[in-house]
Amino acid sequence: MTITEPGVTSEENRVVDLVEDLLTSFPPDKTEAKVFLGEQFDRGLAWVHFPEGFGGLEASPKLQKLIQERIYAAGGPNPYYRNPIGYGMCGPTVVVWGSEAQKQRYLRPLFTGEEVWCQLFSEPGSGSDFAGLSSKGIRDGDEWIVNGQKVWTTLAHVARWGLLVVRTDPDVPKHAGLTAFVVDMQGPGVETRPLRQMTGEAEFNEVYFTDTRVPDSERLGNPGDGWRVSLTTLMNERVSIGGAIAPKGSGPIGEAVKVWSSLPADRQDPSTKDELMKLWIEAEVNRLTNIRASQNRKVGVPGPEGSTGKLAFAESNKRIYDFAVNLMGADGMLYSTYQMNRPEIAMSSDSIQKAFLRSRANSIEGGTSEVMRNILGERVLGLPGDVRVDREVAWNEVPRN
Ligand SMILES: Cc1cc2nc3c(=O)[nH]c(=O)nc-3n(C[C@H](O)[C@H](O)[C@H](O)COP(=O)(O)OP(=O)(O)OC[C@H]3O[C@@H](n4cnc5c(N)ncnc54)[C@H](O)[C@@H]3O)c2cc1C
Repeated sequence: MTITEPGVTSEENRVVDLVEDLLTSFPPDKTEAKVFLGEQFDRGLAWVHFPEGFGGLEASPKLQKLIQERIYAAGGPNPYYRNPIGYGMCGPTVVVWGSEAQKQRYLRPLFTGEEVWCQLFSEPGSGSDFAGLSSKGIRDGDEWIVNGQKVWTTLAHVARWGLLVVRTDPDVPKHAGLTAFVVDMQGPGVETRPLRQMTGEAEFNEVYFTDTRVPDSERLGNPGDGWRVSLTTLMNERVSIGGAIAPKGSGPIGEAVKVWSSLPADRQDPSTKDELMKLWIEAEVNRLTNIRASQNRKVGVPGPEGSTGKLAFAESNKRIYDFAVNLMGADGMLYSTYQMNRPEIAMSSDSIQKAFLRSRANSIEGGTSEVMRNILGERVLGLPGDVRVDREVAWNEVPRN
């Protein structure tokens, strides 16, 4: 169905035709999710800005929103839901830094959710200062031997593959001595232990590597490129967490409005209504800012605008759920169960109370709000940089405990 409105490009029409053909040939209500997603990938509609043959059409990334809206409207599956780290961050990293063989091997099952991915960056001593990490990789012929501990690894317990960054050269400054790999999460020498959150669940884990052998062919980029590889992941992570464009009035603010609407009339007082309206306006401003950022994004790798969206999303989400739980009064303290479980899906929520508890993590995961403000201050506003005493010093000469 060709759209003839002014401003609609031939690229847009081509994509719309491809989506319609996909939906006609594989009606979502009669097609298994992984089959549908496989067909979406093969038609270049998975990440539309990726190269042809690898889930894309080398088209403008802003067309992805159009594709997903049409697919969701027809009841099609969401690739993010089952494999959020894979779809939002690891896929975009593999396509930029992977070899042809890695792209062929990994992207399709990642997109269909048949192979879940996790991100092995943070360590007990290196979260915000991720470049200071100390897990080691030592070259041994065609392999690397990895030792060390990662932490907060979301979905590691169900992951088939992990995006791993380790220190391969301790004699150079911290950013220069890192190398990235794809690691087999089910291979020998990889141990995954649950870490429990205040929701009661363990979405994330500690992961221990003990003499784990990683083939050199699983390296992403050159030895020493690990920091640059990670930036691709982290920039995509911020957009993935903070850049989602939900319909107007939906998402957390929609839930807060529902709680408000269910209150008895004598509790819908003007001052809480005023607070609700302020939050609604804040959520709408964030949504419109994300739309503007996505329209301006010409190439695949997002810039510091991702940090703006991530910061705004995290702080606004926390305020909204705080407000909603307060509105609920004593009911806000009712919680279904703190029974420990290791969910297959991250960030799921079946109640306002759980969403409130989970939202506290929003300003930590994917980079803390303080670090987002540093990025905005330095890279957008041009303010003086953070104090960095270890930048030019060889990593193994930096004092640490
Ligand atoms: C729910 C959740 C899921 C996660 N999933 C993953 C995952 O899958 N993979 C992964 O690798 N990691 C994951 N993380 C880890 C996350 O990226 C880190 O927690 C985060 O980067 C902060 O690091 P940290 O916890 O070590 O805190 P720290 O870096 O120790 O920070 C402690 C405090 O100091 C502040 N601070 C630190 N440096 C500065 C600075 N320069 N200026 C101002 N303030 C500063 C921070 O803002 C924070 O308040 C996850 C975290 C959470 C909460």
